[in-house]
Formats: sequence, structure tokens, C-alpha cells
Amino acid sequence: MNKRIYLSPPHMGGEELKYIHQAFDQNWIAPVGPNVDQFEKELSAYLGVSHVAAVSSGTAALHLGLINLGIQAGDEVIVSTLTFSASVNPIIYQNAVPVFVDSEKETWNMCPDLLKKAIEDRISKGKKPAAILPVHIYGIPANMDKIMAVANEFGIPVIEDAAESLGSTFNGKHTGSIGTMGVLSFNGNKIITTSGGGALISENEDFIKNARFLATQARDKSPYYHHTQIGYNYRMSNILAGIGRGQLEVLDDRVRGKREVFEFYENMFAEIPGVTFCDELAGSFSNRWLSTILIDKNISGGKTPEGLVAAFESEDIESRHIWKPMHLQPVFEKHPAYLNGIAEQIFQQGLCLPSGTAMSDNEFGRIARTVRNYFS
Ligand SMILES: *Cc1c(COP(=O)(O)O)cnc(C)c1O
Repeated sequence: MNKRIYLSPPHMGGEELKYIHQAFDQNWIAPVGPNVDQFEKELSAYLGVSHVAAVSSGTAALHLGLINLGIQAGDEVIVSTLTFSASVNPIIYQNAVPVFVDSEKETWNMCPDLLKKAIEDRISKGKKPAAILPVHIYGIPANMDKIMAVANEFGIPVIEDAAESLGSTFNGKHTGSIGTMGVLSFNGNKIITTSGGGALISENEDFIKNARFLATQARDKSPYYHHTQIGYNYRMSNILAGIGRGQLEVLDDRVRGKREVFEFYENMFAEIPGVTFCDELAGSFSNRWLSTILIDKNISGGKTPEGLVAAFESEDIESRHIWKPMHLQPVFEKHPAYLNGIAEQIFQQGLCLPSGTAMSDNEFGRIARTVRNYFS
């Protein structure tokens, strides 16, 4: 019996248990501790970013980032529409208003021209957006040169959602390290995992110190518990940070592995008409967290993402549609959106392919046979 092939299963490096044992030996079974401190230092060195706060999830990191900027009820936050709902939910937690901006064809990420139009229109309607939240979807870097130029022109801070793009770079800088703050996720399906976890990163020490303070219930310095602000229980556990330390040691291997998976698909689909990929911009390097394709059914002879998902499923292989854009989600559809149709087209034509870095030759063979049979 063949085992199910998952989209992006965890891939342990081997040293994770060593750091977990250290936590047990020191009896540091808490949401802070030596592994958390070390994990933050090691991430900071890897990313070339001065300050890192390890927290319980990427969603928590986004929430803390918005609080750092003072985002509050009624404020508008511009966010990519082609993303996972977790990019948007923390905006709602603050009772702020998400303003969706569509994608550009080249990177699938926030279109800088449409971003500028959206800002000008919001200002003309009486309100300057309080933050811009671009996403590096599937690990493909957004065009941060252009996005930062627009952000700087209007003096609006940027929080990069780099949850899917750890290991990706843009002009030599790690995604997440280019804006005012950046957010990482270590959820179970991400390129490296702590089972659940995230981080807020920034050059601004005050933001990161404040995030640590708020993430541990906002306890003021005092001999007794004294609170002047609302806090959160968002810190990363010392056990999970141990997993993160082990995973970080193999991150570069995982990026190489993901890129090899992508190359496998590039070669396989080269001969198949109607199937295209999202290329890297010049100067940008993608971790290729998930390999994705577009299928144009007018060129592919009627072959569709739905059809390929079903063909994979019948062979017990997991694949998945592209994120359904946020402006099409019932829960967000009443919010303003600046659209050009590209995110919706990517959603309709797109597919995420199995992208595990521990796949065997036999598993690559099962995938290749399924694809060949479906397109033949
Ligand atoms: C996974 C993900 C998040 C949220 O991260 P969690 O650690 O799961 O909370 C945010 N944004 C994007 C684009 C993601 O893929």
C-alpha cells in the first residue's frame, strides 16, 4: 500500500530532540526560557535583522505588529487580497478595516501601481491608510522596491507577512527584513516548523521589546502584578523553541530541497501546453515553499485544476487550490477592495502541488505518472 503524499509535511532535521532534552534537563517547561532566547539570537543572525521576538504563532506576530503601530478601531490597513485569512484576521481583532489590493501578474503579490491608486483614493475619501501589509505568497518575494517606494512617498509603515517565505530574499535582503516590521510563521506546514509558532522581526528595538511585553500579559515592572495595558498570552514555549533551533540548522537544506521539487515540476510540465509557473523577478530568490502552477484550459485542451486535484486524490496525493482571494470571502466581502482581476484569475487557474522535501524517488514517480495520465 502506498502512503498518502501530503502537500507540505514537517521534515525534521535530527537535532530538535537534543534541544527539547536540554529544556527538560533544565526544567524550563515554560513560555520563555533559554531555547527561546537562543532561537531569537539564531534567527536574528540568519536573517541579518537586529531584533526578533519569538511568539506562539504568525497570527499573534501580525497582531502584535499592528498594535505596535497603534492600529485601532476604524483605522484602515491595506493588505494583499491573494493570501490566507490569517493575514487579515488580526486587522479585524483591532476593529480596524482591511482594504484589499489585488495582485500583479509577475509576482502574484500586491501590485505596487494599484497600491498607489488605493492610497490616493483612500486619502481623497478622507482617510490615509495607517499601514500596508504585503504578503510574500507561496514564498515568492513581492516587489519590495516598488512597494517601499510607494509606502515612503506617503509615509505609511509596512508590515511584511513573510509567513510563507522564510529563506526567500529580495535584492539580497531576507523577506520580512525590508519593511518596518516582518512576520514569520513556524506552523506545521511551513518551510520549517516548531509545530506552532511565529516571530516578529524588526530593526526597531522598541517594537520588539514592546511585543515581548505585550505577549507576556503586559506585566509592568513592579514587586506585584501591575498592569497599565491589556496584555496577551502570545509568547513561544521553551520546548517549541527547541524544535525551532533544530529546524533552523537545516533551513538552507530545506530551501534547496523545495527548489529541487520546483525544478522537478518545471521539467515535467515543460512539454505540457497551457501550464505556466510564477517566475522570480530579477534580484529575487524564492524558497519555493509550495510549487504552484497555472493551467489555462483554453490551451491545455480543457484540463483544469479541479481535474488535476481529483486525479491526484484518486492516487492518494494531496494537492490544493490557490488561496481564494480575501475580497471574495463572505466574511470580508463588505470591505473596500482595489481590483484588477488578477488574483481571481490566479485562484481559478492555479494549483499547489505536493512540495514535501522528504519525498522519495518512488513518490516523485507516483506524482509524475499521475500528471502524465491526466494530461495524456
Ligand atoms: C501561515 C500563515 C499565516 C499565519 O501563521 P500561523 O503561524 O499559522 O498563525 C499568516 N499569513 C500567511 C500568508 C500564512 O501562510
